[in-house]
Amino acid sequence: MTIVLKIGGAKAVNPEGAIDDISQLYAQGESIVVVHGGSTAIDENLDKMGLSPKYVETPGGVVGRFTDSATMEVFTMTMAGSLNTNLVVLLQNSNVNSVGLSGVDGRLLSGPRKDSIRVLENGKKKILRGDHSGVISDINIGLIQLLLSNKYVPVISPPMMANDGTAVNIDADRVASALAGPLNATLVSLTDVSGIYRDISDSNSLIKHAKTPDQHEILQQAAEGFMKRKLMAADDAIQNGAKKVIIAGANESNPLLSALSGGGTHIYPGALP
Ligand code: ADP
Repeated sequence: MTIVLKIGGAKAVNPEGAIDDISQLYAQGESIVVVHGGSTAIDENLDKMGLSPKYVETPGGVVGRFTDSATMEVFTMTMAGSLNTNLVVLLQNSNVNSVGLSGVDGRLLSGPRKDSIRVLENGKKKILRGDHSGVISDINIGLIQLLLSNKYVPVISPPMMANDGTAVNIDADRVASALAGPLNATLVSLTDVSGIYRDISDSNSLIKHAKTPDQHEILQQAAEGFMKRKLMAADDAIQNGAKKVIIAGANESNPLLSALSGGGTHIYPGALP
């Protein structure tokens, strides 16, 4: 089994819980790829430098970050710099031979740059230019296979390589999804909630699985804001070959093992419309 584990970047996500689980699965010979986000850490570092994050909403209601050049610099420092290194250190201390990479290393993740984005501002559609973000269209999956076959655990973070020769922002859920497809992996996305809730204000309303398009429709109705983006990435992963996607809580005990044994929201290939 190949597992792509995405560890969320919200402040409330503590990656340490998953480390023991990775260590256990690694010792059993499983192939694991770790992808991490870093949204809160980026916001905090922007703040330390006297900059403020700019979140925008697309006309479709999807929330994302607008990445101007100053933000891009902080983005790379935080993601490929401290967060990636800290995670590699945690794993190394748990006897996992981890290797940190960003999407630009070995042109792991590349594709067109999205310089302008369509946003909704005070109910009006606008085009914002100067965005440093991209869309993954090519993946050097051979690099990951090379590491996995030599018993390394790749720890991967944005940015990606854009076709204009610059490093640009890419959502970590997109990174995880792009890798899970060609690896035919199970994608586990650990976040600050226990999965997708039918009603976000009711913690008893966890949707356990989606196996049919009707059940998928329920997920789509329920997911708001950031979760909408996560669900779109989950669908793409399955479309491109992932065996299954699990969205589950990072802060529970043994979060990865419990997700793999039924916890969280499980999305199966049969759910795609
Ligand atoms: P991460 O940084 O871990 O990738 P995100 O912040 O991108 O996590 O996504 C998780 C967030 O999605 C939750 O904290 C929650 O606020 C939001 N969300 C929106 N709709 C739902 C829903 N129906 N069920 C659970 N969470 C939801």
